[in-house]
Amino acid sequence: MELKDRLIKYVKIDTQSDPNSETIPSTKKQFDLAKLLQEELISMGVSDVILDEHCYVYGTIPSNIDKDVFSVGFIAHMDTSPDYSGKDVNPILISNYDGKDIELNSEMTLKVSDFPQFKNYIGNDILVSDGTTLLGADDKAGIAAIMHAAKYLLDNPDIPHGKIKIGFTPDEEIGRGAELFDIKGFGCDFAYTLDGDEVNIIADENFNAASAIVNIYGTSIHPGSSKNKMVNAINLAMEFHSYLPSFKRPEHTEKREGFNHITEIEGDVSNTKLSYIIRNHDKELFMKQIELFKEIEEFMNKKYGSKRVSVEIKENYENMYEILKDKPEVIDFAKLAINDIGLEYKMESIRGGTDGARLTFDGLPCPNLGTGGGNFHGPYEYCNLTQLDQAVKVILNIVRRVGEA
Ligand SMILES: [Zn+2]
Repeated sequence: MELKDRLIKYVKIDTQSDPNSETIPSTKKQFDLAKLLQEELISMGVSDVILDEHCYVYGTIPSNIDKDVFSVGFIAHMDTSPDYSGKDVNPILISNYDGKDIELNSEMTLKVSDFPQFKNYIGNDILVSDGTTLLGADDKAGIAAIMHAAKYLLDNPDIPHGKIKIGFTPDEEIGRGAELFDIKGFGCDFAYTLDGDEVNIIADENFNAASAIVNIYGTSIHPGSSKNKMVNAINLAMEFHSYLPSFKRPEHTEKREGFNHITEIEGDVSNTKLSYIIRNHDKELFMKQIELFKEIEEFMNKKYGSKRVSVEIKENYENMYEILKDKPEVIDFAKLAINDIGLEYKMESIRGGTDGARLTFDGLPCPNLGTGGGNFHGPYEYCNLTQLDQAVKVILNIVRRVGEA
């Protein structure tokens, strides 16, 4: 099977996850892809293929060499984002892309002026959706690359390698993908998620993340007779918000700049609640942002002479770089593997969290590699198939380099 046909086959299976579901996996239909992958892994000769009750798929390609080398895993997620439909995906293949705008349907055009990366894709093969759904390259491109590399290794048993593990997870898009991952059973020294954009990008950093709930308590009195008595929680809430730097918001930050983001405000005169998320790659700056919330709380409580403001901080996840910085070999293999295909690697900091970050802190160091996909979670999603082909080669180069080490 050609790589593009593999991807097309996978994206046509609806695997959208659902944040409002409490079942595991969140949607039953993720099993449709999981079962297909299980069958394909078995038929290509992968050992110990497991599809567990929670919809995780695992497989092993045993070592074929005598020496003791690292065992390495490759992981991708099966679900697609709840943000946009993944049902009846109708992929459109553009061979030898000419650099022009791409018409997805009569009303939607993917414009190069909006997505200037397409200027670099001239001559590449590209897969898009017809605009009525997302494409699902996030993360079926990762699955296709891993499956293709596995098939290649099994068809070419003369390539020396250590133990290789494969893992496909459900519910990544709703933040639950790593929860029930069997790290012990996986038994790898380290792994890579293939869940990214440009193929030469290595992501070894993600945000430190916390959430803050700010409760403001007012005193409600009939507005006709409230002079010097009413304390309006809504006004205090606006005051609280005004003390946070407006330039440190998501809409004004990029790259390694952190932010405080107000996600919700609800309330009335007696009680108003503000919800925030706090993000920064840098742990020290992250702690300072949290500190500022506490300082505002203290200041306002002093100003109003009683406990009007209460700040509750919950730390959600940490930057995996904290762990990966002490495991340089994990990143070095990826750097060399990308150089091996004639590309210059680029380190990038993910502005979010990843399953890999969670796995890293749970004992499986796991940076992220690119697949050639982009514009995720919406109608303009695409996969650069030329880069996807390179992603397969990156996997194989990592395997070879680890085997040689
Ligand atoms: Zn993804």
